[in-house]
Amino acid sequence: MTTLIQGGWVVGNDGKEHRLIDNGVVVFDENKVIYVGKSYSGQVDNYIDARGKIISPGFIDTHFHAQTPIMNSAFTIDVDYKLTFGNPNIPYAPTKEKAKFMALSDENFRSAAEYSLCSLLKSGCTTVLEMGAGRDILVELVGKLGLRAYLGPGFRSAEDYTGEDGTFYNKEWDEERGLKGLEHAVEFIKKYDGAYNGRVNGILNPMQVDFCTPTLLKEVRLAANKIGAPISIHAGQRIYEFQEIIRRYKKTPIGYLESTDLLGPDLIIAHCMMVSGHDWTAYAGDDDIEALARTKTSVAHCPLVAARTSCFLKSFNRYLRAGVNISIGTDTWPLDIISEMRYASIIGKIVDGSSGSATSAQVFNSATIGGAMALRRQDLGRLVKGSKADIVIIRTDNFRFTPIADPIKSLVNAGTLDDVETVIVDGNKVIEDGKVLAVDEVSLRKTVLKAAEEEWAKVPLWDWSNRSIYDIGPLSFKPFE
Ligand SMILES: [Zn+2]
Repeated sequence: MTTLIQGGWVVGNDGKEHRLIDNGVVVFDENKVIYVGKSYSGQVDNYIDARGKIISPGFIDTHFHAQTPIMNSAFTIDVDYKLTFGNPNIPYAPTKEKAKFMALSDENFRSAAEYSLCSLLKSGCTTVLEMGAGRDILVELVGKLGLRAYLGPGFRSAEDYTGEDGTFYNKEWDEERGLKGLEHAVEFIKKYDGAYNGRVNGILNPMQVDFCTPTLLKEVRLAANKIGAPISIHAGQRIYEFQEIIRRYKKTPIGYLESTDLLGPDLIIAHCMMVSGHDWTAYAGDDDIEALARTKTSVAHCPLVAARTSCFLKSFNRYLRAGVNISIGTDTWPLDIISEMRYASIIGKIVDGSSGSATSAQVFNSATIGGAMALRRQDLGRLVKGSKADIVIIRTDNFRFTPIADPIKSLVNAGTLDDVETVIVDGNKVIEDGKVLAVDEVSLRKTVLKAAEEEWAKVPLWDWSNRSIYDIGPLSFKPFE
Protein backbone atom coordinates (compact mmCIF):
# COMPACT_ATOMS: atom_id res chain seq x y z
CA MET A 1 0.00 0.00 0.00
CA THR A 2 1.65 3.22 -1.18
CA THR A 3 0.78 6.75 -0.05
CA LEU A 4 1.86 10.04 -1.62
CA ILE A 5 1.97 13.24 0.41
CA GLN A 6 1.93 16.35 -1.76
CA GLY A 7 3.58 19.35 0.03
CA GLY A 8 4.04 22.05 0.96
CA TRP A 9 7.53 22.45 2.27
CA VAL A 10 9.08 19.00 2.54
CA VAL A 11 12.03 18.67 4.91
CA GLY A 12 13.90 16.08 2.91
CA ASN A 13 17.42 14.83 3.41
CA ASP A 14 20.41 14.27 1.16
CA GLY A 15 21.75 11.42 3.26
CA LYS A 16 23.79 13.80 5.39
CA GLU A 17 21.60 16.74 6.29
CA HIS A 18 18.08 18.12 5.90
CA ARG A 19 17.14 19.81 2.60
CA LEU A 20 14.08 21.97 1.96
CA ILE A 21 11.94 21.04 -1.04
CA ASP A 22 9.24 23.59 -1.90
CA ASN A 23 6.11 21.86 -3.26
CA GLY A 24 7.89 18.58 -2.58
CA VAL A 25 6.54 15.05 -2.46
CA VAL A 26 6.99 12.18 0.01
CA VAL A 27 5.93 8.64 -0.92
CA PHE A 28 5.90 5.73 1.49
CA ASP A 29 5.07 2.06 1.08
CA GLU A 30 3.86 0.23 4.22
CA ASN A 31 6.24 1.52 6.91
CA LYS A 32 9.09 2.76 4.69
CA VAL A 33 9.73 5.96 2.75
CA ILE A 34 10.37 5.08 -0.91
CA TYR A 35 10.68 8.53 -2.46
CA VAL A 36 11.37 12.13 -1.38
CA GLY A 37 11.74 14.78 -4.08
CA LYS A 38 10.05 17.18 -6.45
CA SER A 39 7.62 14.88 -8.30
CA TYR A 40 6.69 11.21 -8.43
CA SER A 41 5.37 9.51 -11.53
CA GLY A 42 4.67 6.03 -10.13
CA GLN A 43 1.22 4.67 -9.22
CA VAL A 44 0.06 5.16 -5.63
CA ASP A 45 -2.87 3.85 -3.60
CA ASN A 46 -3.48 6.87 -1.35
CA TYR A 47 -3.02 10.60 -1.73
CA ILE A 48 -2.67 13.20 1.03
CA ASP A 49 -2.99 16.84 -0.02
CA ALA A 50 -0.63 18.85 2.21
CA ARG A 51 -0.09 21.84 -0.04
CA GLY A 52 0.79 24.95 2.00
CA LYS A 53 1.90 22.79 4.94
CA ILE A 54 5.23 21.63 6.36
CA ILE A 55 6.05 17.93 5.93
CA SER A 56 8.65 17.05 8.52
CA PRO A 57 10.34 13.92 9.77
CA GLY A 58 8.75 12.88 13.08
CA PHE A 59 10.37 14.49 16.11
CA ILE A 60 12.30 12.48 18.70
CA ASP A 61 11.92 13.27 22.40
CA THR A 62 14.86 11.73 24.26
CA HIS A 63 13.75 12.54 27.79
CA PHE A 64 10.37 12.59 29.51
CA HIS A 65 8.67 11.02 32.53
CA ALA A 66 5.23 9.51 32.08
CA GLN A 67 3.82 10.43 35.48
CA THR A 68 5.45 13.77 36.34
CA PRO A 69 3.26 16.24 34.40
CA ILE A 70 0.62 15.97 37.14
CA MET A 71 2.98 17.29 39.81
CA ASN A 72 5.03 19.60 37.63
CA SER A 73 2.00 21.43 36.36
CA ALA A 74 0.90 22.17 39.92
CA PHE A 75 3.36 23.31 42.53
CA THR A 76 6.87 23.34 41.12
CA ILE A 77 6.47 26.51 39.08
CA ASP A 78 7.58 29.90 40.49
CA VAL A 79 8.80 28.24 43.70
CA ASP A 80 12.00 29.90 44.91
CA TYR A 81 14.02 26.69 45.21
CA LYS A 82 17.42 28.17 46.06
CA LEU A 83 19.00 25.14 44.53
CA THR A 84 21.64 24.21 46.99
CA PHE A 85 22.13 21.73 49.79
CA GLY A 86 19.69 21.49 52.64
CA ASN A 87 16.81 23.34 51.07
CA PRO A 88 13.47 21.97 52.24
CA ASN A 89 11.55 23.84 49.57
CA ILE A 90 12.25 21.04 47.15
CA PRO A 91 9.19 18.87 47.38
CA TYR A 92 10.36 15.79 45.48
CA ALA A 93 11.52 13.59 48.36
CA PRO A 94 9.17 12.49 51.15
CA THR A 95 10.28 11.52 54.64
CA LYS A 96 10.97 7.81 54.94
CA GLU A 97 7.80 7.04 56.90
CA LYS A 98 5.66 8.89 54.39
CA ALA A 99 7.23 7.53 51.20
CA LYS A 100 4.39 5.08 50.61
CA PHE A 101 1.95 7.93 50.08
CA MET A 102 3.91 9.43 47.20
CA ALA A 103 3.46 6.80 44.49
CA LEU A 104 0.63 7.40 42.05
CA SER A 105 -2.16 4.82 42.16
CA ASP A 106 -2.10 2.40 39.21
CA GLU A 107 -5.19 4.02 37.75
CA ASN A 108 -3.78 7.54 38.04
CA PHE A 109 -0.44 6.43 36.64
CA ARG A 110 -2.25 5.03 33.63
CA SER A 111 -4.13 8.30 33.08
CA ALA A 112 -0.98 10.41 33.46
CA ALA A 113 0.99 8.14 31.13
CA GLU A 114 -1.71 8.11 28.46
CA TYR A 115 -2.01 11.89 28.66
CA SER A 116 1.78 12.31 28.39
CA LEU A 117 2.12 10.01 25.40
CA CYS A 118 -0.83 11.68 23.66
CA SER A 119 0.62 15.16 24.28
CA LEU A 120 3.93 14.13 22.76
CA LEU A 121 2.22 12.55 19.75
CA LYS A 122 0.14 15.69 19.27
CA SER A 123 3.31 17.80 19.21
CA GLY A 124 4.71 15.62 16.44
CA CYS A 125 6.92 13.25 18.45
CA THR A 126 6.93 9.91 16.71
CA THR A 127 9.67 8.46 18.94
CA VAL A 128 9.92 9.06 22.68
CA LEU A 129 12.24 7.94 25.48
CA GLU A 130 10.45 7.44 28.79
CA MET A 131 12.90 7.58 31.66
CA GLY A 132 12.33 5.07 34.36
CA ALA A 133 8.65 4.13 34.72
CA GLY A 134 9.06 0.95 32.69
CA ARG A 135 5.72 -0.61 33.50
CA ASP A 136 3.72 -3.15 31.48
CA ILE A 137 0.92 -0.62 31.10
CA LEU A 138 3.28 1.75 29.24
CA VAL A 139 4.03 -0.94 26.68
CA GLU A 140 0.30 -1.52 26.27
CA LEU A 141 -0.35 2.23 25.80
CA VAL A 142 2.44 2.60 23.24
CA GLY A 143 0.93 -0.33 21.36
CA LYS A 144 -2.53 1.23 21.46
CA LEU A 145 -1.57 4.83 20.60
CA GLY A 146 0.76 3.84 17.78
CA LEU A 147 3.96 5.73 18.55
CA ARG A 148 7.53 4.46 18.84
CA ALA A 149 9.09 4.35 22.31
CA TYR A 150 12.16 3.46 24.33
CA LEU A 151 11.04 2.07 27.69
CA GLY A 152 12.67 0.56 30.74
CA PRO A 153 12.22 0.49 34.52
CA GLY A 154 14.53 2.80 36.45
CA PHE A 155 16.88 1.51 39.15
CA ARG A 156 19.50 2.97 41.49
CA SER A 157 21.64 2.11 44.50
CA ALA A 158 20.13 4.64 46.91
CA GLU A 159 16.82 6.14 47.93
CA ASP A 160 16.50 9.76 48.93
CA TYR A 161 14.53 11.01 51.91
CA THR A 162 13.75 14.32 53.48
CA GLY A 163 14.42 14.35 57.21
CA GLU A 164 11.65 14.95 59.74
CA ASP A 165 13.14 18.43 60.20
CA GLY A 166 13.19 19.14 56.48
CA THR A 167 16.87 18.39 55.94
CA PHE A 168 17.39 17.37 52.41
CA TYR A 169 19.26 14.78 50.31
CA ASN A 170 19.54 12.02 52.90
CA LYS A 171 20.49 8.85 51.09
CA GLU A 172 20.00 5.26 52.13
CA TRP A 173 22.34 3.01 50.18
CA ASP A 174 21.54 -0.56 49.20
CA GLU A 175 23.88 -2.07 46.62
CA GLU A 176 21.84 -5.26 46.29
CA ARG A 177 18.62 -3.39 45.51
CA GLY A 178 20.37 -1.47 42.71
CA LEU A 179 21.77 -4.65 41.18
CA LYS A 180 18.41 -6.42 41.46
CA GLY A 181 16.82 -3.41 39.76
CA LEU A 182 19.26 -3.81 36.88
CA GLU A 183 18.37 -7.51 36.63
CA HIS A 184 14.68 -6.65 36.50
CA ALA A 185 15.35 -4.02 33.82
CA VAL A 186 17.20 -6.56 31.66
CA GLU A 187 14.26 -8.98 32.01
CA PHE A 188 11.81 -6.22 31.02
CA ILE A 189 13.88 -5.41 27.94
CA LYS A 190 14.16 -9.06 26.92
CA LYS A 191 10.40 -9.41 27.26
CA TYR A 192 9.33 -6.32 25.33
CA ASP A 193 12.12 -5.19 22.98
CA GLY A 194 10.78 -5.37 19.44
CA ALA A 195 7.09 -5.52 20.40
CA TYR A 196 4.47 -3.92 18.16
CA ASN A 197 6.42 -4.29 14.94
CA GLY A 198 9.56 -2.94 16.55
CA ARG A 199 7.90 0.21 17.91
CA VAL A 200 8.77 -0.75 21.49
CA ASN A 201 12.48 -0.76 22.31
CA GLY A 202 14.25 -1.35 25.60
CA ILE A 203 16.51 1.09 27.40
CA LEU A 204 18.56 0.79 30.61
CA ASN A 205 17.80 3.61 33.05
CA PRO A 206 20.18 3.90 36.02
CA MET A 207 18.24 6.89 37.27
CA GLN A 208 20.67 9.51 38.60
CA VAL A 209 24.45 9.68 38.67
CA ASP A 210 24.51 10.65 42.37
CA PHE A 211 22.33 7.65 43.32
CA CYS A 212 24.44 4.97 41.60
CA THR A 213 27.55 3.25 42.97
CA PRO A 214 30.56 2.55 40.71
CA THR A 215 29.71 -1.17 40.96
CA LEU A 216 26.21 -0.63 39.62
CA LEU A 217 27.35 1.62 36.78
CA LYS A 218 30.03 -0.87 35.73
CA GLU A 219 27.41 -3.64 35.70
CA VAL A 220 25.13 -1.42 33.57
CA ARG A 221 27.95 -1.01 31.06
CA LEU A 222 28.45 -4.80 30.87
CA ALA A 223 24.70 -5.43 30.52
CA ALA A 224 24.34 -2.80 27.78
CA ASN A 225 27.24 -4.31 25.85
CA LYS A 226 25.67 -7.74 26.18
CA ILE A 227 22.07 -6.97 25.22
CA GLY A 228 22.72 -4.00 22.92
CA ALA A 229 20.23 -1.67 24.63
CA PRO A 230 20.98 2.05 24.95
CA ILE A 231 21.40 3.68 28.37
CA SER A 232 19.97 6.87 29.83
CA ILE A 233 20.90 8.63 33.08
CA HIS A 234 20.38 12.02 34.75
CA ALA A 235 23.73 13.75 35.27
CA GLY A 236 24.90 17.33 35.50
CA GLN A 237 21.32 18.24 36.45
CA ARG A 238 21.86 20.11 39.72
CA ILE A 239 24.71 22.02 41.31
CA TYR A 240 24.46 19.99 44.53
CA GLU A 241 24.74 16.77 42.51
CA PHE A 242 27.94 18.13 40.90
CA GLN A 243 29.38 19.09 44.28
CA GLU A 244 28.41 15.79 45.89
CA ILE A 245 30.13 13.72 43.16
CA ILE A 246 33.27 15.89 43.47
CA ARG A 247 33.24 15.34 47.24
CA ARG A 248 32.68 11.61 46.92
CA TYR A 249 34.95 10.67 44.01
CA LYS A 250 37.17 13.73 43.35
CA LYS A 251 35.69 13.74 39.85
CA THR A 252 32.99 15.72 38.07
CA PRO A 253 29.81 13.74 37.29
CA ILE A 254 31.02 13.32 33.70
CA GLY A 255 34.47 12.28 34.92
CA TYR A 256 32.81 9.80 37.29
CA LEU A 257 30.72 8.31 34.46
CA GLU A 258 33.86 8.01 32.32
CA SER A 259 35.70 6.25 35.15
CA THR A 260 32.95 3.62 35.29
CA ASP A 261 33.06 3.13 31.50
CA LEU A 262 29.52 4.38 31.07
CA LEU A 263 30.24 7.13 28.54
CA GLY A 264 29.79 6.00 24.94
CA PRO A 265 27.66 6.32 21.81
CA ASP A 266 24.89 4.30 23.48
CA LEU A 267 24.56 6.70 26.46
CA ILE A 268 22.13 9.61 26.64
CA ILE A 269 22.73 12.01 29.52
CA ALA A 270 19.64 13.96 30.54
CA HIS A 271 20.28 17.66 31.27
CA CYS A 272 24.11 17.54 31.42
CA MET A 273 24.31 21.24 32.31
CA MET A 274 26.53 21.15 35.40
CA VAL A 275 29.82 20.30 33.71
CA SER A 276 33.26 21.86 33.91
CA GLY A 277 33.20 25.31 32.38
CA HIS A 278 29.69 26.16 33.61
CA ASP A 279 29.90 29.26 35.83
CA TRP A 280 27.88 27.73 38.66
CA THR A 281 30.36 24.86 39.12
CA ALA A 282 33.37 27.16 39.69
CA TYR A 283 35.26 24.37 37.95
CA ALA A 284 36.96 25.70 34.86
CA GLY A 285 37.87 23.92 31.67
CA ASP A 286 36.44 21.99 28.76
CA ASP A 287 37.41 18.52 29.97
CA ASP A 288 33.83 17.34 30.43
CA ILE A 289 32.46 18.34 27.06
CA GLU A 290 35.62 17.08 25.40
CA ALA A 291 35.03 13.71 27.08
CA LEU A 292 31.41 13.70 25.83
CA ALA A 293 32.59 14.44 22.28
CA ARG A 294 35.46 11.95 22.38
CA THR A 295 33.18 9.13 23.57
CA LYS A 296 30.28 10.17 21.27
CA THR A 297 27.98 10.43 24.28
CA SER A 298 24.69 12.26 23.62
CA VAL A 299 22.92 14.92 25.68
CA ALA A 300 19.15 15.14 26.16
CA HIS A 301 18.72 18.90 26.47
CA CYS A 302 15.52 19.95 28.28
CA PRO A 303 15.69 23.75 28.22
CA LEU A 304 12.27 24.68 29.61
CA VAL A 305 12.29 22.68 32.83
CA ALA A 306 15.87 23.86 33.46
CA ALA A 307 15.01 27.49 32.82
CA ARG A 308 12.08 27.26 35.26
CA THR A 309 14.64 26.56 37.98
CA SER A 310 16.84 29.36 36.61
CA CYS A 311 19.35 26.86 35.20
CA PHE A 312 20.77 26.56 31.69
CA LEU A 313 23.16 24.74 29.39
CA LYS A 314 26.37 26.68 28.79
CA SER A 315 25.96 26.58 25.97
CA PHE A 316 24.12 24.92 23.10
CA ASN A 317 26.73 26.14 20.63
CA ARG A 318 29.68 25.44 22.92
CA TYR A 319 28.66 21.76 23.03
CA LEU A 320 28.04 21.64 19.26
CA ARG A 321 31.40 23.28 18.54
CA ALA A 322 33.12 20.66 20.69
CA GLY A 323 31.37 17.94 18.63
CA VAL A 324 28.80 16.83 21.23
CA ASN A 325 25.52 15.44 19.90
CA ILE A 326 22.56 17.32 21.44
CA SER A 327 19.06 15.86 21.32
CA ILE A 328 15.92 17.41 22.81
CA GLY A 329 13.78 16.26 25.74
CA THR A 330 10.57 17.74 27.08
CA ASP A 331 10.99 16.21 30.57
CA THR A 332 7.84 17.14 32.49
CA TRP A 333 5.18 19.65 31.53
CA PRO A 334 3.97 20.91 29.15
CA LEU A 335 4.97 18.22 26.69
CA ASP A 336 5.39 20.10 23.43
CA ILE A 337 8.61 19.52 21.53
CA ILE A 338 7.93 22.35 19.08
CA SER A 339 7.91 24.88 21.94
CA GLU A 340 10.91 23.10 23.45
CA MET A 341 12.87 23.78 20.23
CA ARG A 342 12.01 27.47 20.62
CA TYR A 343 13.29 27.53 24.24
CA ALA A 344 16.49 25.77 23.15
CA SER A 345 17.01 28.41 20.49
CA ILE A 346 16.13 31.50 22.54
CA ILE A 347 17.95 30.43 25.72
CA GLY A 348 20.95 29.33 23.62
CA LYS A 349 21.17 32.87 22.23
CA ILE A 350 20.85 34.51 25.66
CA VAL A 351 23.54 32.32 27.24
CA ASP A 352 26.01 33.04 24.42
CA GLY A 353 24.98 36.68 24.12
CA SER A 354 24.73 36.00 20.42
CA SER A 355 21.73 36.09 18.11
CA GLY A 356 23.61 33.71 15.79
CA SER A 357 23.68 30.92 18.37
CA ALA A 358 21.28 27.97 18.63
CA THR A 359 19.77 28.64 15.22
CA SER A 360 16.40 27.26 14.13
CA ALA A 361 18.21 24.76 11.90
CA GLN A 362 20.43 23.60 14.77
CA VAL A 363 17.58 23.02 17.23
CA PHE A 364 15.48 21.36 14.50
CA ASN A 365 18.46 19.05 13.85
CA SER A 366 18.59 18.24 17.55
CA ALA A 367 14.89 17.29 17.62
CA THR A 368 15.29 15.02 14.58
CA ILE A 369 18.74 13.79 13.50
CA GLY A 370 20.25 14.48 16.95
CA GLY A 371 17.63 12.29 18.62
CA ALA A 372 18.15 9.57 16.02
CA MET A 373 21.91 9.66 16.56
CA ALA A 374 21.39 9.46 20.33
CA LEU A 375 19.35 6.29 19.79
CA ARG A 376 21.78 5.04 17.11
CA ARG A 377 18.96 4.97 14.56
CA GLN A 378 19.84 5.76 10.96
CA ASP A 379 16.23 5.06 9.94
CA LEU A 380 14.62 7.80 12.10
CA GLY A 381 14.67 11.60 12.24
CA ARG A 382 14.98 12.12 8.48
CA LEU A 383 12.89 11.73 5.36
CA VAL A 384 14.97 9.83 2.85
CA LYS A 385 14.47 6.67 0.80
CA GLY A 386 14.63 3.71 3.20
CA SER A 387 13.83 5.62 6.39
CA LYS A 388 10.83 4.68 8.54
CA ALA A 389 7.56 6.33 7.50
CA ASP A 390 7.44 8.55 10.64
CA ILE A 391 6.06 11.79 9.24
CA VAL A 392 4.47 14.96 10.62
CA ILE A 393 2.29 17.39 8.66
CA ILE A 394 2.10 20.87 10.20
CA ARG A 395 -0.45 23.53 9.30
CA THR A 396 0.72 27.06 8.67
CA ASP A 397 -2.57 28.82 7.86
CA ASN A 398 -2.83 30.89 11.01
CA PHE A 399 -1.82 34.36 12.20
CA ARG A 400 1.27 33.20 14.08
CA PHE A 401 2.85 31.54 11.04
CA THR A 402 1.98 34.31 8.59
CA PRO A 403 3.98 35.33 6.59
CA ILE A 404 6.48 32.52 6.04
CA ALA A 405 9.86 33.25 4.51
CA ASP A 406 11.50 30.16 6.00
CA PRO A 407 9.38 27.24 7.26
CA ILE A 408 11.94 26.06 9.83
CA LYS A 409 12.44 29.54 11.34
CA SER A 410 8.66 29.98 11.42
CA LEU A 411 8.10 26.59 13.03
CA VAL A 412 10.75 27.11 15.70
CA ASN A 413 9.76 30.70 16.48
CA ALA A 414 5.98 30.57 16.06
CA GLY A 415 4.83 26.93 16.05
CA THR A 416 3.15 24.96 18.83
CA LEU A 417 1.56 21.57 19.32
CA ASP A 418 -1.74 23.03 18.11
CA ASP A 419 -0.36 23.36 14.57
CA VAL A 420 0.29 19.64 14.13
CA GLU A 421 -2.37 18.26 11.83
CA THR A 422 -1.32 14.74 10.89
CA VAL A 423 1.14 12.30 12.43
CA ILE A 424 2.14 9.06 10.74
CA VAL A 425 4.20 6.45 12.60
CA ASP A 426 5.49 3.27 10.98
CA GLY A 427 3.29 4.07 8.00
CA ASN A 428 0.08 4.35 10.05
CA LYS A 429 -1.88 7.54 10.64
CA VAL A 430 -2.16 8.08 14.41
CA ILE A 431 -3.15 11.78 14.50
CA GLU A 432 -5.70 13.24 12.11
CA ASP A 433 -6.96 16.85 12.22
CA GLY A 434 -4.81 17.29 15.33
CA LYS A 435 -6.65 14.53 17.23
CA VAL A 436 -5.25 11.25 18.54
CA LEU A 437 -7.22 8.56 16.68
CA ALA A 438 -6.90 5.88 19.36
CA VAL A 439 -8.48 7.81 22.25
CA ASP A 440 -11.42 10.01 23.10
CA GLU A 441 -9.46 13.16 23.97
CA VAL A 442 -12.33 14.79 25.91
CA SER A 443 -12.74 11.88 28.28
CA LEU A 444 -8.96 11.47 28.61
CA ARG A 445 -8.66 15.11 29.71
CA LYS A 446 -11.41 14.60 32.31
CA THR A 447 -9.69 11.46 33.61
CA VAL A 448 -6.34 13.24 33.90
CA LEU A 449 -7.87 16.16 35.75
CA LYS A 450 -9.49 13.79 38.25
CA ALA A 451 -6.21 11.89 38.67
CA ALA A 452 -4.33 15.14 39.22
CA GLU A 453 -6.78 16.39 41.84
CA GLU A 454 -6.55 13.07 43.71
CA GLU A 455 -2.76 13.12 43.67
CA TRP A 456 -2.55 16.81 44.63
CA ALA A 457 -4.79 16.10 47.63
CA LYS A 458 -2.27 13.46 48.77
CA VAL A 459 0.70 15.87 48.88
CA PRO A 460 0.29 16.82 52.61
CA LEU A 461 0.44 13.10 53.41
CA TRP A 462 4.01 12.82 52.14
CA ASP A 463 5.44 16.31 52.41
CA TRP A 464 7.85 16.59 55.36
CA SER A 465 5.83 19.38 57.00
CA ASN A 466 2.41 18.34 55.66
CA ARG A 467 2.17 21.26 53.26
CA SER A 468 -0.52 21.42 50.61
CA ILE A 469 0.35 22.20 46.99
CA TYR A 470 -0.71 25.81 47.63
CA ASP A 471 1.55 26.05 50.72
CA ILE A 472 4.47 24.98 48.51
CA GLY A 473 3.49 26.95 45.43
CA PRO A 474 0.87 29.61 46.27
CA LEU A 475 -1.87 30.56 43.83
CA SER A 476 -0.74 33.39 41.55
CA PHE A 477 -3.39 35.69 43.02
CA LYS A 478 -5.27 35.31 46.29
CA PRO A 479 -8.76 33.90 45.85
CA PHE A 480 -11.56 36.50 45.72
CA GLU A 481 -13.57 36.64 48.92
ZN1 LIG B 1 14.23 13.67 34.08
